[in-house]
Amino acid sequence: MIVKIKCPKCETEGSLSLSDPLYQGPYRCWKCRELFTIKMENNELKSCEPLSQEEFEKQQEIESLRAKFKRQ
Ligand SMILES: [Zn+2]
Repeated sequence: MIVKIKCPKCETEGSLSLSDPLYQGPYRCWKCRELFTIKMENNELKSCEPLSQEEFEKQQEIESLRAKFKRQ
């Protein structure tokens, strides 16, 4: 499912593909390249916090590991 997320910084709408109505993880605005940690619940944005590049990479790693485990 695709959810729309509005960037808190530049207010550009982006979309994110989710396999779960509950999601907590990294998001990068396609326009201003700003990084956030977002929390989604029932396709609604519950929280959004600024994220550093370093943290973003760490979270992406965790996400990809999680995806790998799901496939097995
Ligand atoms: Zn933005």
